Amino acid sequence: MTRALFVIDIQNDFTEGGALGVAGGARVAQAVTDHLGGPRAVDYDVVVASRDWHDGNGDNGGHFSADPDYVTTWPVHCVRGTPGAEYHPALDVSAVDVHVRKGTGEPAYSLFEGRAEDGRSVPDVLAEHGVTEVDVVGLATDHCVRASALDAVAQGLRVRVLTDLVAGVAPGTTAAALDELRAAGVETVTAGEAS
Ligand SMILES: [Zn+2]
Repeated sequence: MTRALFVIDIQNDFTEGGALGVAGGARVAQAVTDHLGGPRAVDYDVVVASRDWHDGNGDNGGHFSADPDYVTTWPVHCVRGTPGAEYHPALDVSAVDVHVRKGTGEPAYSLFEGRAEDGRSVPDVLAEHGVTEVDVVGLATDHCVRASALDAVAQGLRVRVLTDLVAGVAPGTTAAALDELRAAGVETVTAGEAS
């Protein structure tokens, strides 16, 4: 068994005070740091963290809108090179082995849509490490965590979402996303249960 951790989009724009701030985002940043460094830390073989990484020019394939519907169009967020695109300061990135960027010039919700800084695809990174299982944490439960976990299942991985290390945009869509993930075969457990 080889297990990876996916740390999804724990960026300033997705935490309190950001362009698309999720309530609980800063708490998740600190909790993920604690999960990686704490006494009961799961021993991950590889830690992969994603960032939404949009162009500052243009609408990134219709992803940005001045009149967003918050379903498929959004206010400007996570423009590469700006503070909003950086990891939240409470996230200890020293534990991250592979940094994935996604969404440059296009909408991208799943970590699998991105690439490592050296250009490798996510499936290539996972194959190099022989990853068979993955835990997913980060933001937001009802959007990028959902999409990343579903893609991980589609890749044939055994997937857990750690429910106290994620936060969602809205309660209804978050509950629906967790139901959808469980129906797809994803385990939903707390970090303590995962240890
Ligand atoms: Zn985006």
